[in-house]
Amino acid sequence: MPSLAMILASLATLALAMLAAQTRRSRLAAFASVALLFGVAGWIAFVPSRPHLRAGVMEMTAIDVGQGDSILLVTPAGRALLIDAGGMAQWMHSDFDIGEQVVSSYLWNRGIDRLDVVVITHPHADHLGGMPAVIANFHPRELWISIDKPVGELAPIVAQAQSAGMIVSVEKDGDTFDYGGTHFRVFAPGRDQITGSMRPNDDCLVFTATLGGTTALLEGDAERPAERRVVEEHPEAMLLKVAHHGSASGTSADLLATVHPRFAVISVGARNVYGHPRREVLERLQKAGVKTYRTDAEGAVSFYLDGKSVTPDVALLH
Ligand SMILES: [Zn+2]
Repeated sequence: MPSLAMILASLATLALAMLAAQTRRSRLAAFASVALLFGVAGWIAFVPSRPHLRAGVMEMTAIDVGQGDSILLVTPAGRALLIDAGGMAQWMHSDFDIGEQVVSSYLWNRGIDRLDVVVITHPHADHLGGMPAVIANFHPRELWISIDKPVGELAPIVAQAQSAGMIVSVEKDGDTFDYGGTHFRVFAPGRDQITGSMRPNDDCLVFTATLGGTTALLEGDAERPAERRVVEEHPEAMLLKVAHHGSASGTSADLLATVHPRFAVISVGARNVYGHPRREVLERLQKAGVKTYRTDAEGAVSFYLDGKSVTPDVALLH
């Protein structure tokens, strides 16, 4: 998409060319204007627009992928991470590629043509289904997963990442590291836990991303066992990516009392067959005084964390 500056520059050039042609004052001026017009056209066609990102702050955006998760996290140093890439549940037997049609389109519209890291929280179709297209389109350098021995649908994605020369790392409870000016801390799965179980939600990668005094807790599809690990370590986080699309198996009163979020976002599809988000979860959030946003009602929801406060930005309100 050409920026407003580009459009204005082309219009100004066109006006100048018409003016020069009308007055016939100078053929040279007309020639120069036409050359400039071609230059601007080339600029629009070939120079990539700058990503629409805010410098020095951390952004967390829940992209509207219907029933599923795809979270864009941009660090203050401008590193772009995508946590999950949406996807259709297998029983839907759909060829629609959310990774290509929804997630890639969203990122391109934001002027993002390269991701640094992609993360798969757990191997469920509504989280990893769109990932092959995203990896092919955005050439990330790293893939973070939570499973030691990838099986099922995760295996071919790890193979795709390895053949693309990406670093594949397995993150576990207790891992802490800095990346792009953001501090990451992993809470689940447990270090001693045997991953690759029949209950992928219990293998879910749960972590916080922190800039100064502002933290986002990303719970993926965590259920009780994973949430218990979080509660035991009592992190505080102003922003919560609500667990498992607002299923009643997560977002316990204990978790809310420990973490003290002020804002939350639920990534959930409209009229989904699972009854997400559950009424009791919405009530728990409300009781805890958490201002809660939903992708089914508001579309993509962004939050900007500047080290002191969190500012929500809802796409549909623009
Ligand atoms: Zn899910």
